[in-house]
Amino acid sequence: MELFDTHAHLDFPDYAEDFEEVLYRCRENQVVYVVNVGIDIDTSRKSVSMARNNSGIYASVGVHPHDVDGFDERHLRALHLLAADEKVVALGEIGLDYYRDLTPREKQKNAFRRQIALARELGLPVIIHNRDAHKDVLQIIQEENVRDTGGIMHCFSGDWAMAKKCLDNNLLIAVGGTVTFKNAKDVQDVARRIPLDSLLLETDSPFLSPEPRRGKRNEPGNVRLVAECVAGLKKVSVEEVAYWTTYNAIKLFKI
Ligand SMILES: [Zn+2]
Ligand SMILES: [Zn+2]
Repeated sequence: MELFDTHAHLDFPDYAEDFEEVLYRCRENQVVYVVNVGIDIDTSRKSVSMARNNSGIYASVGVHPHDVDGFDERHLRALHLLAADEKVVALGEIGLDYYRDLTPREKQKNAFRRQIALARELGLPVIIHNRDAHKDVLQIIQEENVRDTGGIMHCFSGDWAMAKKCLDNNLLIAVGGTVTFKNAKDVQDVARRIPLDSLLLETDSPFLSPEPRRGKRNEPGNVRLVAECVAGLKKVSVEEVAYWTTYNAIKLFKI
């Protein structure tokens, strides 16, 4: 069995003390691939260097909606340069966050559109962050033709109707620790209904640890708990979930 964590932030200070042990627990849990995701230029750069130094780690570069206040040409140029590295497999995380609303919404939308345009230019799939912004996210992915590059709706939080609209736009659905939470009825319903060829797994480490580790620091080895939960919901083996989700990620990221 080989598992793929499509979304982690292992460059965060949370791992400064025990990074090697975290990687060891990945191997113990058969997590063979991890995409480390940038949220600004600095963490995108760190993701690329981490990927260069670790064979199973790949990088995604992008500026998160929380960090797009001063977003301009310089950011686009920096991302363009970073994306030239062969271990960069996606553009992200990009999107809209109306839950915390740390940046004016017009600025969020502008940076989202311009980074999708860059992804299309570079031929890279996008990793989309969406919190409480379903309507605007859907409008922008349609208008900016995300279907040409494809990508991921990460940490999926919508219902089945929303999931279907994402699938129609050539996006895969990534579920993480939230699917294991008792009150996450919508995400569990999506996990049950979604065809295995449209599903991905993630942790969003260090956030959102799955049960029974909820509240603790998350790490990619825990993607196994997510896989087991999804297998239970779909009534298939964990090996089958691992097979499809890893296959889907390898295909999307062209690894
Ligand atoms: Zn996110
Ligand atoms: Zn993230």
